[in-house]
Amino acid sequence: MDSEIYGQYEIIDAHAHIFPEKIAENATVNIGKFYDIPMESCGISGKLIESGSKIGTSRYLVCSTATTPRQTAHINEFIAAECNAHPEFYGFGTTHPDSEDLEADIAQIKALGLHGVKLHPDFQEFNADSPEAFRIYEIIEGELPLLIHCGDNRYDYSAPQRIAAIHKNFPKLQLLAAHLGGYQRWDDAEKCLPGLENVRFDVSSSLAFLTPEKAAHMVRTYGVENCFFGSDFPMWSHEEELERFLKLGFTPEENQLILADNFKNFLGIE
Ligand SMILES: [Zn+2]
Repeated sequence: MDSEIYGQYEIIDAHAHIFPEKIAENATVNIGKFYDIPMESCGISGKLIESGSKIGTSRYLVCSTATTPRQTAHINEFIAAECNAHPEFYGFGTTHPDSEDLEADIAQIKALGLHGVKLHPDFQEFNADSPEAFRIYEIIEGELPLLIHCGDNRYDYSAPQRIAAIHKNFPKLQLLAAHLGGYQRWDDAEKCLPGLENVRFDVSSSLAFLTPEKAAHMVRTYGVENCFFGSDFPMWSHEEELERFLKLGFTPEENQLILADNFKNFLGIE
């Protein structure tokens, strides 16, 4: 990709996954199987930075989800260690609705200096608006933002309607609805998620499936100021996701908002 095109922009990746080196290969293969999409890369920090650097990415939101409650503490420690090693990383920790001590999980996330919580209802097998999940939102509302995977046409755990229900019950929760609010369920998302205060969106893992017109329409419907650029690395390379993004036809000012400024405002960083 031509660096003259993207070189004018500051770029932040608001949705990237990293895994400990020992399990990265397996974790990456498993996600690829889950989504039946060939992975662009392997989810380790070095590869993430290598891919992001190709488009001049300066910062990354990094996360990883616990498929069982047992993994939570370890994953959070890993994310925090990677953030310490890489100042350009902004880590989100994780927890699990079946955790025996949600309070302790959230306290650990805060103590480690992580910036939010990432949940993936489809991997973690819980309904996003279940009473068990509500216990997490109760603890973090007003304290930590939640990045949540949204949508899948094979499962109902993270349906956009459930994401809307989270907002209805926790209107002060800063919600970051991944994949334009509903991977493969973009029509549902567009019906029930626009206009909600404290709900924002990333465009990761969406642009390969939507026409530029549809994706741009969704971003406009949600509000340009509420949307972030993200790669969902190792799902896609930064180059291909940026190339797709720049086809949406936003003005240079709007591009800059989505590529970095909205995220900086969201986290309150310079
Ligand atoms: Zn994710």
